[in-house]
Amino acid sequence: MPEGDTIWRTAAALRQRIAGKVVNDARPAALARLKGRRVEAIEPNGKHLLMRFEGGIALHSHMRMTGSWHVYRPGERWRQPEWRATAVLSFDDVVAVCFAAPVMELVRDAKAPVAHLGPDILVDPFDLDAVIERARRSEAPTLGELLLEQRVCAGIGNIYKCEALWALRLDAWMPPAELDDARLRQLYLTARGLMRPNLVTPIAGQRHAVHGRGGRPCPRCGTPIRIRAQGHQARLTYYCPRCQRKPAVVGED
Ligand SMILES: [Zn+2]
Repeated sequence: MPEGDTIWRTAAALRQRIAGKVVNDARPAALARLKGRRVEAIEPNGKHLLMRFEGGIALHSHMRMTGSWHVYRPGERWRQPEWRATAVLSFDDVVAVCFAAPVMELVRDAKAPVAHLGPDILVDPFDLDAVIERARRSEAPTLGELLLEQRVCAGIGNIYKCEALWALRLDAWMPPAELDDARLRQLYLTARGLMRPNLVTPIAGQRHAVHGRGGRPCPRCGTPIRIRAQGHQARLTYYCPRCQRKPAVVGED
């Protein structure tokens, strides 16, 4: 699933190739109104991508688990079949194609699709106070689910949820109320610290401590990493059962 950092890199790549250019053709028919309009801005916001066009119209896409934007030269072979394309924007020298995005819509108010989101984990300055305030109002029953709550903080996906919890030795199933504000702040700053370097480095070069490493040794203690579905969306949480235990109550063991 694309996380905020992937969307940022996608936006940067699109900006470089299509910003300021005029759309010659737009498909499917629902996007035909973009023909003849110039691309004014491309903005990542959490896991949403907003492409603003002249005339006050914007194309809102959300990648969820499956979507991705690609840019091709005219005639270049696409990396996915055409039937999977949910948007095809043709310019003089490039074609921007979005494959399999579950949300692709034209909007008049570019702020509306992202109005519900919490502060973006990747922006500068990062509004951590607002994140903590939203976190304390959230009904997410566990830390793992809280980190994925885009209304609290936008842009964290499953990978950095797992990695940040592991980095701080926190149990993903701990109720957020059990964590004090200082540690909760540290948790969001850790996720941000892990994600920010990815704005410049390709994702392929990344190595994760726990995510995608089920059964392999924890880099800290050597215990095999476990995988367990979490929350009503059953997102897979990778964790070390030894160093991410709840802190033992004094007097136990
Ligand atoms: Zn461990």
